[in-house]
Amino acid sequence: MAKSFACKDIGMQCNFQTRANTEEELMQRIAAHAKKAHNMASIDAGTMSKVKAAIREV
Ligand SMILES: [Zn+2]
Repeated sequence: MAKSFACKDIGMQCNFQTRANTEEELMQRIAAHAKKAHNMASIDAGTMSKVKAAIREV
């Protein structure tokens, strides 16, 4: 099972989606994208809980 995440699932106007084999790897990819594309130096707790809720098993 892999895990996937799409920005639009948390209401972002963004076509980014990614997948990884572990949640740790997925979160690293999301953090790198958030920093680059959304100017988030770090993901705040509220966004983090939305992200975690939006992660899907694929
Ligand atoms: Zn995005």
